[in-house]
This record gives sequence, C-alpha cells and structure tokens, in this order.
Amino acid sequence: MFHRVLVAGMGALGSEVVKNLGLLGCESVLMADADVIEQKNIARSVLLREGAIDGQSKVACSLNRLRAWFPETHWDGAAVEIADIEPGHFSRADILFSCVDTDLARTEIAALAARYKLPVCDAGLGGTSTRVGRVSWFPGVHSAACFACLLSGKRRAALLNAWESDVHACWAREQGEEGTWTSTPTMASIVAGLQVELAVSAMKSAEGAFSVHLDLDQAPILREIQHSRSVECPLHDDVLGIPFPICTRAECGQCHRQFSPDRRTGWVRRWSACPSCGNRDLIIRDSRSNEWEGSLS
Ligand SMILES: [Zn+2]
Ligand SMILES: [Zn+2]
Repeated sequence: MFHRVLVAGMGALGSEVVKNLGLLGCESVLMADADVIEQKNIARSVLLREGAIDGQSKVACSLNRLRAWFPETHWDGAAVEIADIEPGHFSRADILFSCVDTDLARTEIAALAARYKLPVCDAGLGGTSTRVGRVSWFPGVHSAACFACLLSGKRRAALLNAWESDVHACWAREQGEEGTWTSTPTMASIVAGLQVELAVSAMKSAEGAFSVHLDLDQAPILREIQHSRSVECPLHDDVLGIPFPICTRAECGQCHRQFSPDRRTGWVRRWSACPSCGNRDLIIRDSRSNEWEGSLS
C-alpha cells in the first residue's frame, strides 16, 4: 500500500478517491485544487454537503469533513494547483492520483511526475458517453510511457510549448472533438474505486504504463490498453530545468489592457482575469521560455 499520497483535483472523482483513501487507512494525503464550490457541486459530491458554502474552497471544505471522518489519516491540502505545491511534498510522496479534467493539467502532472519519478494513477470520466471512464497507470520511470507520450506530436507540442488549455474532460484525445462532460456521481464512484484499487495492485507489480477502459453503454466492456513510450516525448530526459513557463505579459481580449501576471502560463490560462474588466479571455503575449523548446520541432 501507499503511505503518502498526493491528489490533484477535488471534483467528483477526487472526492471519491480521497474517501477511498480514508477507508483504506492511508497514512497521509495532500490535496490540491484551486477551485471553489458552486451550488451544482454540492449535490454531486460526498464531501461537499451540508455546511458547504458557495464560493468556499473545495479543499478547505473537504478537509473539515475528512478530518472528522478519518482521524487516523493526516489530511492536508491547499487551494492551489498541484504544480504550485512545494517540491518537498513530491519527493516524499509514493503516488499521485490525478483527478483533473484537462489535457493541460495532465501534461503538467506528467512533467512533475517525470521530475520526481513519481507514479501517477489518472482517471477521467466522459468522452464518448457519460457512462464511460478510464483509469491509467503511469509508473513514473523514464522507460515507461507518461501521459504526454499518448498525445500526437502536434498536440504535445501545443501543450508543452504554448501550454494551451482546453476544457475537455478526458484522456489522450487526438483532435478536439467536443466531448460531453458530465460527472454523474455513480460513474465517479465506480471509476474512483477502480482507480484506487488498480493503483494498489499496480504499485506492487506493474512496470509498464496501461489504461483500463470502462464502457457501460457497450454491453459493459472493460478492456486493458498497453502504452509504450514515445521516442519523441521530451519528458524522459534526466535533466529537467524549470518545468513550467511563466507568463510575464498578458493582454485582455476585451479591453486590451496589458498586465504582468508573473505566474505559470498554465495557471494564467485557467484562472487569471483582466484586472480592469474581469474578462477571462486573455492573450499570452510574453512568457519566460522553457527548456523543451529545443527538443520539439
Ligand atoms: Zn512521455
Ligand atoms: Zn479587460
């Protein structure tokens, strides 16, 4: 079993995952999610129930509940993205559960995992149907595939160089076809159960990366897919400098005000708003370059 666990994303899947970790008697769990509670989350999550306040951080609210339910586990968390968690937590962790819902967030996690040689168990819901889920295991060794290996070269370059965000749920989608993102609580519960169970067994034996694909629309299907490392994926070199580019200048798409966020470009794409008009449609004008530029053509 794992002792020290990181969980990225506290949506429908993440809340089910931490509940499972509590039931398994995990020693210590650290959660990261920058998101705040919205009314629609409250009905869907086992953690965000009565007492949950609109606009409160999902992590803060979950911590209260988890500490009361599972006092044997040391619960910790921060209302930030996983990339903003202090490095020390990565080197001490046994595994990272990825419960995020964009390719960009998954690519950032792959970069962090490569850096700290940390196994990642990822899960996603939706895609072709609301009754589809996928759990993927990435062992965190440089010889095995990472999430970025599963992307097409073009998509990987877009994510690693431009750090372009998207709002699609789901895994290694080749081209951006609009997916239906619905996190039904039953599918979240099934897939999060599978995610934790699969991680428990993969920690012991799995050397390669693979996914388990669950489709309850198709008579139900559960199939395993093996992943091999892409020779073009740059996340397997031993030397990784500053992994994430910092956006130094952004422009508002509406009022054209320019400002200096000085934060990770990935963060700016997802969370930043124009300081003048509050618009979130921003153009990245300048960023400190990153070390992958040379290796992607
Ligand atoms: Zn890779
Ligand atoms: Zn503006």
